[in-house]
Amino acid sequence: MKLVKEKLIDGDGKRRDGRTFDMLRPIKIDAGPLKNADGSAYIEWGNNKIMVGVYGPRELQQKHLQEPDRAIVQVQYTMASFSVEDRKKPGQGRRENEISKILSEALEGVIISDQYPRTAINVFIEVLEAGAGTRCAGLTAASVALADAGIPMRGLVASCAAGKIDGQVVLDLDKLEDNIGDADLPVGIIPTTGEIVLLQMDGHLSDLEFEKAFGLARDACMKIHELQREALSRKYFNEGESPKEDEPDGEVTS
Ligand code: ADP
Repeated sequence: MKLVKEKLIDGDGKRRDGRTFDMLRPIKIDAGPLKNADGSAYIEWGNNKIMVGVYGPRELQQKHLQEPDRAIVQVQYTMASFSVEDRKKPGQGRRENEISKILSEALEGVIISDQYPRTAINVFIEVLEAGAGTRCAGLTAASVALADAGIPMRGLVASCAAGKIDGQVVLDLDKLEDNIGDADLPVGIIPTTGEIVLLQMDGHLSDLEFEKAFGLARDACMKIHELQREALSRKYFNEGESPKEDEPDGEVTS
């Protein structure tokens, strides 16, 4: 029997959830929901629900891991067993270790770590519900949690994926689009400088498609950056009032 591939974009250019090619799923960010962490953030992005807690900078107990001139950044990305439809095997798998590593590297390039020699900054990303794009949502929330912890950064990191479905380049793939689509391109940037801190690609894109997908993701990161700033403003400033332009994103004081 021949399998018919489900269509992801209809004749009017609409995706199954009604989005056009350049639309994000709904995003909500809350800064500082946890009392016991040094910094925290909660994000809902489409079906994703992710809590991030930050501890540190704290002196590293394992002396052999200490860096004499900087803090090390340790990200632990974990998916709860109940985060997906079929119960996920508990514990860290290969995928979670890989995502933890690439997110550690992304954040290491952003945190001004030489202010905290011999210490560790721990970022725990707990995926409570997963619906594709969790690494981007996790990185976006981690950056807000680090700002909430008062850790100096060269800017907030905003992250979003674009990809290809039904032969078309689109922004922010949902679960089915990710599962049966042709390509996925997660991007993380510092919107205030344009610097790229995360770039991965799963699947195949031509040069032209890559440029279009990257452009869509980069533009979306600018919008996500606004949501990050608003979340921090709600906690640290009066509702609606933004941090002053010359105030670095990461140096929010309570
Ligand atoms: P991302 O969440 O960053 O897009 P992937 O592309 O690896 O990362 O995963 C896409 C989606 O596949 C996840 O968001 C999740 O919904 C689902 N998924 C990932 N790992 C598992 C797993 N072990 N069991 C069930 N679903 C999973």
